[in-house]
Amino acid sequence: MKEFPSETQELQTRVQILKKKKNAVVLAHYYQEPAIKEVADFVGDSLELAKKAAQTSAGIIVFAGVHFMAETAKILNPEKKVLLPDLNAGCSLADSCEPESFRKFIEQHPDHIVVTYINCSAEIKTMSDIVCTSSNAERIINSIPKEKKIIFAPDKNLGDYLIRKTGREMLLWDGSCVVHEAFSIDKLLDLHKKYPSARIIAHPESESHILRAASYIGSTSGLIKYIAKTDWTTFIVATEAGILYDMQKKFPEKTIIPAPAKEDNSCACSECAYMKMNSLQKLHLCLKNETPEIELEERIMEKAALPIKRMLELSIEYVVQN
Ligand code: SF4
Repeated sequence: MKEFPSETQELQTRVQILKKKKNAVVLAHYYQEPAIKEVADFVGDSLELAKKAAQTSAGIIVFAGVHFMAETAKILNPEKKVLLPDLNAGCSLADSCEPESFRKFIEQHPDHIVVTYINCSAEIKTMSDIVCTSSNAERIINSIPKEKKIIFAPDKNLGDYLIRKTGREMLLWDGSCVVHEAFSIDKLLDLHKKYPSARIIAHPESESHILRAASYIGSTSGLIKYIAKTDWTTFIVATEAGILYDMQKKFPEKTIIPAPAKEDNSCACSECAYMKMNSLQKLHLCLKNETPEIELEERIMEKAALPIKRMLELSIEYVVQN
């Protein structure tokens, strides 16, 4: 475990005390900062967190992640208080699918089944027939009868990857994640020359030229499982850099290198600025004051719950394998 400064440790202790006192659970996404992940009751990817949110008996859910994830937790637990440390923690991918335009798009293709990636707003989920995550997307697409036409939104890179994997024609919404589109193929290939024995592994939200260079493509938890089961010892990882903390913690004997981003930044890797809007300080305050809280209209929660529950029913553990 990482050694945190004494002020951080003190805050972490306060969070643990508040959690017990308030019967609260902290669910944290892999992309959160280490100080938050160490006080979380569960750390996982979107699918794992949605499952945990559906199962929890806690009265308060503090969601250390981004807005659409906390919304999903609220939709699955309408009677519970769901808190998000920073309400501005959004998502470029969710923002790339605006409800009115998406409604028109669906109306233009009325005979299509609408599959939406979980990274979208609750309102978009109300227009969806079934939700998926990167862990179960292939299984969800394959569960749809072959004669049915499909709209896939909002991530065009994941959609494109799924078309190649499943052989299904799909109409793709033109959305993407700024973080997963930030990888530089030239820098990645240069880095691979420096570490020729490394395996490049990538999240399917990455662009197709990055995916073509990868030996393995999978969801966040899929990438971790891949490292666990192979004998390879060095990996170049093309996804949000927060996951590297968990990989290094689980596999201290392996070398984990972040895939390089196009722009130079302090860590030469890709970090999600939205995810990093949450901090341990904000988490502590939100648990203490029980705000900011996720609030959704009942109408939206009822409609959006259906495609999420359909996904959960179909979600036996599944790893997208290349
Ligand atoms: S990494 Fe991309 S998809 Fe994930 S929360 Fe950040 S902007 Fe959204």
